[in-house]
Amino acid sequence: MSVRKEGLPVLTDAFSTRIVEWQQRHGRHGLPWQHTRDPYRVWLSEIMLQQTQVTTVLTYYERFLQRFPDVTALAAASQDEVLALWSGLGYYSRARNLHRCAQAVVSQHGGQFPRSSEQLQGLPGIGRSTAAAVAAFCFGERVAILDGNVKRVLTRVLGFAGDLAQAVQERALWGQATALLPDRGIEPYTQGLMDLGATLCSVRAPQCLLCPVRDLCVAAATQTQTKFPVKTRKLKRSKREHLWLWLCWRDRVWLVQRPDQGVWAGLWSLPEFETAPGFEQHSAGWPGQADRLPPFTHVLTHLDWTLHPVRWTLPADLEEAQAAALVSAWPTGRWFTQAEALAAGLPAPLRKLLLSRRPGGALSRARRARGVGSV
Ligand code: SF4
Repeated sequence: MSVRKEGLPVLTDAFSTRIVEWQQRHGRHGLPWQHTRDPYRVWLSEIMLQQTQVTTVLTYYERFLQRFPDVTALAAASQDEVLALWSGLGYYSRARNLHRCAQAVVSQHGGQFPRSSEQLQGLPGIGRSTAAAVAAFCFGERVAILDGNVKRVLTRVLGFAGDLAQAVQERALWGQATALLPDRGIEPYTQGLMDLGATLCSVRAPQCLLCPVRDLCVAAATQTQTKFPVKTRKLKRSKREHLWLWLCWRDRVWLVQRPDQGVWAGLWSLPEFETAPGFEQHSAGWPGQADRLPPFTHVLTHLDWTLHPVRWTLPADLEEAQAAALVSAWPTGRWFTQAEALAAGLPAPLRKLLLSRRPGGALSRARRARGVGSV
């Protein structure tokens, strides 16, 4: 088999043969989602591994499987419980889609994942590459994957200089990836490409001397490795600042459920205010004590979000009805005990903040300042 396109090199079976042999001798073999053909486990790992390192995923993966051993158990769970288990992994739309996908597998496919990549792509949150990985690993379908790591390997080997921000170029690369598929051994080949991208063919310092396809690689021959892949459209970053109200009453904290769209969608979080004056106006006349805590910046893919936490402790003898009146502006909220809050789906910085309330936690060591200050 060969891959031909004007301006691109001709690759023969040598490419796939070497990838397969390298995977068998030097690839990764001990990951918990390998050596299984259970599509539930493979799918779960593929979703978790999107935008998250293997070392982080390992703990979450085991915990998830203990609580939801199969797709039926996951489908039957509440979204809150799924988000709580996902808490800290980030990119929470993955968790919501995971849940929706499990429900679709149960309601539309009798609890069995479809066996073809084409059908798998019809499920929530399953894109072309994830569908291909599940179909190749679980059902032996001869189909190409093209996740971020594999794009890097293939564009470098082929010297593929098309701008992947353009759909036509992305399609062309899919075509190349498909033409490179071996007739046999789709599983070790797919795994080999993933492993090569995750280990040797790194973003900044590829270890070409150890690479099994070095003599076939255009980027290595021309010392242009870091020029690939080409993608001109970059995410535009923005900045945002909010005052974060940590409202405590007796042993409880007031949390609000975030909307279904946007940052931390569906998670439980603290009420936000765009400005300190806005907050001061809102809280004028409130009883209790306000402590301004050190601000911090939470870095998201497209956003640097600086949060200024203010911990407001209401008097313990405040009547229930009075406490309810103070929080009536947030109909999606409720009071949580510390234990309930920590068991809920929380953004990672909030979990850290709540844990700092424990004796010896960061809060007890933090410098506290009376007053709200400015945002
Ligand atoms: S030779 Fe280097 S750049 Fe080319 S695929 Fe191997 S590691 Fe990547």
